[in-house]
This record gives sequence, C-alpha cells and structure tokens, in this order.
Amino acid sequence: MHEASLCQGLLDLVLETITQQTTPVKKVTEIVCELGPFSCIEPTTLASCFELFAENTPCEGAKLTLTRSIVTYTCQECGYSADLRKRLFHCPNCGSDNIHFNGGHGLMLNALRVDTEE
Ligand SMILES: [Zn+2]
Repeated sequence: MHEASLCQGLLDLVLETITQQTTPVKKVTEIVCELGPFSCIEPTTLASCFELFAENTPCEGAKLTLTRSIVTYTCQECGYSADLRKRLFHCPNCGSDNIHFNGGHGLMLNALRVDTEE
C-alpha cells in the first residue's frame, strides 16, 4: 500500500527531526505537509493511516495538515515555463516532450508544532 510506506517515511522523518532539536520534544501536536498534485495520495487515507503508525510514538494524536503544493515546469527545448494545472506530457509552446518538472511528487514535511518539556 502506497500510503503505508509514505506514512512510515513521514513518521521516521518527524521522529528524526525532533531528536535533533536542542529542546527536548515531549509531544508533536501538528505536522504540516505539502502533497504533490501527482502523488496519487488520498489525504483522508493518509491521515488515518498516519494515526495508526503514530500510536505509541511522540506523534500520537498529532494533527496532520496537508496542503497541495504548486508545481512549475520548464521546457528544456524552448524554455517555456509555467505553473502546472494538470498533468501534461508535451510543451504547449513547441510540442517537445523534454519537460522538466519542479516538485509535485510525494510528500514534503513543511512544519512541525511541538510541545516541549518544561
Ligand atoms: Zn517548448
């Protein structure tokens, strides 16, 4: 299951991030992520899946906030560049398929809200 491996990866990343903090983190209260429009991830599935994975970790009960990231693309042939609104395979300007996408896949960790120990 796609979401399961993503959740595990996200959880690992969050746990790794909080261990690197100078102030000890007691609990993660919110996790803000950017979701690529091509990631084929169902946000509600991801959220409930993450809830399961986060059990018995400092992430238990954390709110998972997902935002859609904006993708841009640049044609390597003619240099045409724009925001991507839907998946496309050919440059609308010159028809080349040599298009470079900036972002759009997977899940990116944007911000964490945590409770620290007194
Ligand atoms: Zn082009």
